[in-house]
Amino acid sequence: MKGLYSQYTLDDHWVIKETEWAPDLQSLREVQFSQGNGYLGVKGILESIPYDSSSGVFISGLYDKVGSQVDELVNLPNPVNFKFTVEGQKLDEVAMDVVDHKRALNMKKGVLVRKTLFQDRKKRRYEYESLRFISMHDKNVGAMQIALTALDDDCKVDVHTNIDTSVSNAAIISEGRKKHFRVCQLGQHDNAGYLVIETFAKKSTIMFWSGFYYQIDGKKIYAKDNVFQIKIKKGQQITFTKIFYIKHTPYQSSINPIKSNTNKAFRKIFTQNFSDVLKAHVDSWDKIWKRADVIIGGTANLQQNLRFNIYHMIICGPSDKGFSSIGARTLSGEGYRGHIFWDSEIFMLPFYLFVFPDIAKNMLLYRYKRLNQARALARETGYKGAKFPWESASEGTEETPAWARDIDGKITRVHTHEFEHHITADIAYAVYKYFVATGDHAFMNKCGYEIMLETARFWASRVSYNKSRNAYEIRNIIGPDEFHINIDNNYFTNMMAKWNILTACRLYGSLKVKNPKAFKVLSQKINLKSREISEWKNIASKIALESRKGGFIEQFDGYLKLKNVRLTEADENGIPVIPKSWRGRDVALSQLVKQADVLMLLYLLGDVFNLKTKKTNYDYYIARTVHSSSLSASIHAAIAAEIGDMQRAYTLFNLALRADISNIYGNTAEGIHAASLGGTWQTAIFGFAGINIVKEKLIINPNLPNTWNYMQFVLSWQGLALHIKLNHTTVKIRIASSAKKKLDISVFGTHYKLSPKKLHTFNRKVEKQTGKRYYY
Ligand code: BGC
Repeated sequence: MKGLYSQYTLDDHWVIKETEWAPDLQSLREVQFSQGNGYLGVKGILESIPYDSSSGVFISGLYDKVGSQVDELVNLPNPVNFKFTVEGQKLDEVAMDVVDHKRALNMKKGVLVRKTLFQDRKKRRYEYESLRFISMHDKNVGAMQIALTALDDDCKVDVHTNIDTSVSNAAIISEGRKKHFRVCQLGQHDNAGYLVIETFAKKSTIMFWSGFYYQIDGKKIYAKDNVFQIKIKKGQQITFTKIFYIKHTPYQSSINPIKSNTNKAFRKIFTQNFSDVLKAHVDSWDKIWKRADVIIGGTANLQQNLRFNIYHMIICGPSDKGFSSIGARTLSGEGYRGHIFWDSEIFMLPFYLFVFPDIAKNMLLYRYKRLNQARALARETGYKGAKFPWESASEGTEETPAWARDIDGKITRVHTHEFEHHITADIAYAVYKYFVATGDHAFMNKCGYEIMLETARFWASRVSYNKSRNAYEIRNIIGPDEFHINIDNNYFTNMMAKWNILTACRLYGSLKVKNPKAFKVLSQKINLKSREISEWKNIASKIALESRKGGFIEQFDGYLKLKNVRLTEADENGIPVIPKSWRGRDVALSQLVKQADVLMLLYLLGDVFNLKTKKTNYDYYIARTVHSSSLSASIHAAIAAEIGDMQRAYTLFNLALRADISNIYGNTAEGIHAASLGGTWQTAIFGFAGINIVKEKLIINPNLPNTWNYMQFVLSWQGLALHIKLNHTTVKIRIASSAKKKLDISVFGTHYKLSPKKLHTFNRKVEKQTGKRYYY
């Protein structure tokens, strides 16, 4: 164990560090240092659980409801808990003096390490080192080691380690703290402890095993109990090793079989050498990073922060084939109660789609498995087809709470679930992108077409015909800009609805030609006839979508009649400051915009709108957008890069990049902002590296910031792994695949068909001109 801390902190580009004991920052560090593997998420809480710390252990998709208005991600018992008392004084940061303290998250290996020097009342010092990981190799397993050395005197140490059940979910607004589980069984068996809990409402069973041993002078001793006393001599080091195993069954089931099966699985790991368990974990991380890393040449600090964003996406990507998806605050906190928003499909999914397509598929399966709920929701609200809930959790029912705090911190009624409907088109959009990027016909036949068509059906029933305008309108709506509630004809929603209908019709038409059998089965299953398709097409051709001179798009009917406020000041992070004269509630009366709305559309449907339209709208809306949501900066950065406003692109990219590492929005303690993680990756890859899907083809046209020398990354595209390295003037692509299939791609504006297994090099022929990129 000697030198453990330094062993994991050698390469700054892979490490996030805490260099001193700062009690005020602990709630933040607990989230930033979260670990996980897509199944388990465990906050980076200190092992001694100091006063004021807040433990967080989550299983992806495990929600419960008792005591809260809606489903919330269950905060589970904490197996990390490991406490020492030395000569009657608790060994922790609050009870003893902290002479020196360092913690570091090694993102390459998924390991959290720590080294602290404590001093007790009598000035005797204790060196404490620890290492911890949530296994990427075996998703039910977590492991930790602690090495304790008494530097100045012999001492008696009381050890207390168990699975701490005294945890609960946080109180929200008028709800109290909530415990979502009851303990069913608890005991010791064969040198290990077990705990069985059951959630109150949904009756999920969660089984915990945890065992530990200590090593002293090379001898390995299994502890009989989890509370005991040992003696340490001056200068002697004791190493404690704890292995835990967590598995849930999402329904009520008899405990005994679960107990014996999990016990076997647990013992297999527990009896292995710790170094082997660690190695299997590190090797898995190694493989993952070979696919996921994005290297930026020439910018050290930025590299580490970009990896921080990618790391957090890796640890929450679900592998459970649709049991769960990703909540707005990942698996690193209770923010938004773990609910799933459009953040998952629009912000996070592109990363997985291009790096781990199976995870993207799992996220879409999550929606497909809840399509019947979405159908029910459409019916209940008076519509047809499928309407996905604004906030979703386990069942796929609407889980938006009735009350929340507004930007002034005041308690206010929430209306998003009543009016914010664009999520239904956003999910269809993600299905389509998945299909284009993977060519996964099997998924489309089984799930994808059905989602596309049932969402199209929803939109066809959601519109209402306005005779005087001879147009179909979508009234009483909320767009992505949630400052303006209950408006009519939000251009984003109208256009996404039109896109949803037309794309569904097009795919359905092509299925009829290419796979008549699947077409017939599908048509019967959802009772779809050609007459309905004609109606949809007619509606889509007449959805209210008027743009003005120069391609200017009014965000919704009457937006331009609102008070025209321009933002002129920004805070130290570069976030615009709302003028003092505008109180929270008044923003609805102004043209101030919360987050990308019109620009979000121009970004998502980048191949439908031309550069002039993008520029006109960018100039107008960027001066009025307050970015008061973490979804905003990255998308603006990507658009800014596209239209050549590189300085702003870079500033906004940095803002998104630092959202959680610098706690820009002040609420990282509630969990990492999922959308910002994904948005940041999209800005780097789509905005700066210039990767895009245009008319179903992959294009590359880099637009790197001046200070970047090069970018290097791997993308997955239609089953091929593309190894890409590019700089301001050159793009190199190597296709690592033995497939015969050639890659259809456009680089610097010219189309090519590339053979696999070869290195292809392309040079920019025309000098890049600011603000004038190639356009197709
Ligand atoms: C944003 C939504 C987002 C939600 C969860 C809100 O503040 O306006 O667009 O889906 O947060 O991140």
